[in-house]
Amino acid sequence: MSIAENLQKIKESLQDGVELVAVSKTKPSSDIEEAYAAGQRIFGENRPQEMKSKAEELPKDIEWHMIGHLQSKKTKYIAPFVSLIHSVDKLSLLEEINKRAAQNDRIINVLLQVYIAKEESKYGMDEEEVIELLSSEEFNALKNIKVTGLMGMATNTDNEATIQNEFKGLKVFFEELQGKFSNDLVDLKILSTGMSGDYKIAMKEGTNLVRIGSSIFGSRG
Ligand SMILES: *Cc1c(COP(=O)(O)O)cnc(C)c1O
Repeated sequence: MSIAENLQKIKESLQDGVELVAVSKTKPSSDIEEAYAAGQRIFGENRPQEMKSKAEELPKDIEWHMIGHLQSKKTKYIAPFVSLIHSVDKLSLLEEINKRAAQNDRIINVLLQVYIAKEESKYGMDEEEVIELLSSEEFNALKNIKVTGLMGMATNTDNEATIQNEFKGLKVFFEELQGKFSNDLVDLKILSTGMSGDYKIAMKEGTNLVRIGSSIFGSRG
C-alpha cells in the first residue's frame, strides 16, 4: 500500500480527539511530501539536524515534533521552528530549551517524558522527579517554555496487559498532575502515548496524541 493509503487507514482507526504525529525519522523528504499531499501536517523526527534540513526544504506549515531523546547542545538546531518537544527528561535540558527559545523570541511547548516501561534502556523521569521538577524554583523562573503534557513509551512486549497497565498508570498520573499544577508555565492537555504497535491500546487508555511511523512509511532499515 502507498503512504497515502496507509495514512488513510490509520486516520480512520483513530478515535475522535486523537491527533496523529506521522513519524518520518530516517525517511526521505519525498515520503513526507507524499503524506503532506494526503493532508498530514504534523511530522515527528528524532534527530535535530535531520529535522532542520527537512524543515528547510519542506512546506512551512508543517508542524515539527521532536520525539526522540534530545541532547542539550543540539537544541539550537530546532529552537527556531520546532512546535513540540515530546522528550524532555531533565531540568538542565529545559533550561537550554528556554534559553534558545528566548534567543528566537518565542515560547517552545514541551512534554515531559515519563518512564513507564519495564526496560532499563528507556529515557524519562519517574513520577517523583516530575513533581520535583515542576515544583522547583529553577523551573518556575523559566519564561520561554510551556509544559503542555506528558509523553510515555510502553514496554516493547507482546503482552497487551502489561502495555495497557503502563498507559493506564500514566493517565492516572497525568490527571493527578492536572489537579496539582496549572499556571503560566504548566497547562497539561496532551498525553502522547502509542506507536504503530500499541496505539490502539493507548487509545483505550486515554491518549490524545499518537506517534506512528512504520505503519505509515514502512519499516526502517
Ligand atoms: C520511532 C518512534 C516512534 C514510531 O515508532 P513506530 O513503531 O515506527 O510507529 C514513536 N515514538 C518514538 C519516541 C519513536 O522514537
